[in-house]
Amino acid sequence: MSKRKEIIETGWNLDNSYAGLPKSFFTSLNLTPVRSPKMIILNDSLATSLGLNVQALQSENGLAVLAGNRIPEGAFPLAQAYAGHQFGHFTMLGDGRALLLGEQITPKVERFDIQLKGSGRTPYSRGGDGRAALGPMLREYIISEAMHALGIATTRSLAVVTTGEAVIRETDLPGAIMTRVASSHIRVGTFQYASKWGTAQDLKALADYTLQRHFPDVDAEENRYLSLLQDVIKRQAVLIAKWQLVGFIHGVMNTDNMAISGETIDYGPCAFMDVYDPETVFSSIDRQGRYAYGNQPYIAGWNLARFAETLLPLLHDDQELAVKMAEDAISDFSELYQSNWFRGMREKLGIFNEEQQDESLIEDLLSMMKKYRADYTNTFRALTFNMREDAVMFETPEFAQWHELWQARLGRQQESESSSHQLMKRSNPALIPRNHRVEAALEAAVKQEDYSVMERLLDVLSSPYAHSPEQAEYSKLPAQSTRPYRTFCGT
Ligand code: AMP
Ligand code: MG
Repeated sequence: MSKRKEIIETGWNLDNSYAGLPKSFFTSLNLTPVRSPKMIILNDSLATSLGLNVQALQSENGLAVLAGNRIPEGAFPLAQAYAGHQFGHFTMLGDGRALLLGEQITPKVERFDIQLKGSGRTPYSRGGDGRAALGPMLREYIISEAMHALGIATTRSLAVVTTGEAVIRETDLPGAIMTRVASSHIRVGTFQYASKWGTAQDLKALADYTLQRHFPDVDAEENRYLSLLQDVIKRQAVLIAKWQLVGFIHGVMNTDNMAISGETIDYGPCAFMDVYDPETVFSSIDRQGRYAYGNQPYIAGWNLARFAETLLPLLHDDQELAVKMAEDAISDFSELYQSNWFRGMREKLGIFNEEQQDESLIEDLLSMMKKYRADYTNTFRALTFNMREDAVMFETPEFAQWHELWQARLGRQQESESSSHQLMKRSNPALIPRNHRVEAALEAAVKQEDYSVMERLLDVLSSPYAHSPEQAEYSKLPAQSTRPYRTFCGT
């Protein structure tokens, strides 16, 4: 088959605008081929929306691209340089096990990074092997696709392939490569890198590039860099509110894992909260609870302050004024976050308008949920359908009293009971990727090469607001476990 024909068939339409940045932002790379690639899962609908042909991707040549064994026409493989605060400590990082093939221009003329994760060592690998294991790559695939279906901005997963090579962790594990699709991989850490080690021109080039790529509507007349800061803050306020509303715990909100685009990025030790408790932490390495559920909004604010610091030289020539501008912008985050979160919470309770007492109505419910260790997702699902699951909270006089106040509140709005119910159905997912379900899917896939458990799970997770009968099974809680759920970075 001629190369040309193959490109047309697969639909790769790659551009490389990132490679137009100053050279210090990346290192161009050669591929590190793997022994015997095998397709484990391919995201057909995402492939199609990217303008890629599913059949061609599954062919030997198609697979070779997803395994990092072949460079598709138009690609310019590179590893990105970035820095970051990891658990509060600043350090140089960079793509240590990923390479950017290029930016796919879709039939709708949108631009998405196509990145191979687990594709081999790079100059930024430090002590790492540059590789990834199958379990964590499938975990990212499942959870990121679930987040997308929940209506939360996120990087997505196009495919996972195994390499036919073992990766050495505590034991030998099957090696895998995930193809990640992102609106870009520019992070707070990319700006930190430019600010710490780049020239003034480097920083400006990155900011201009980011504006053009993600915020093309920013008015050239205004202070463009202040707009950049404000817009990034707005997107994070929306994103983090959505995380909190579904009980998503990222687990490793280092500044290198905060995307400027406002997408959720880097699914390592993340997991969904079951019992409502703001102190919930799943990650085995987060011993201090820095990234606990209830801390996420504060950490986002902290990360954004680090972002703002990098922009100071661009905000104003007078550094005092620049600091003032940055502080003002940062201080808006908390309010923006709160208003997004309250709106979302009202929607979860079927409330259309605003009343002063809503805040206490919401807070009273949450404190009851905490006190009685109620399951976060299932409580809202039960309220939506007026079900009384066998949860302790529902039997208490406290709850009865709260329920009366809530019903009275609903009665004070113009919208009908049925519109309230519809709003709740749209705002309260029937299911989330439950930890025990995700583990079962991964175990079957990794240990038995049985992918059917994962495929069924992905299928029900793809429409979390459908509230269909076949989903009921997936809403069930696991049998009581004596051990707390723990997650690992999977690096
Ligand atoms: P993460 O915790 O996934 O955000 O990764 C933090 C940093 O460690 C990034 O610079 C990664 O590229 C790097 N890293 C993670 N795993 C590996 C690995 N197996 N080999 C090389 N670098 C890695
Ligand atoms: Mg990362």
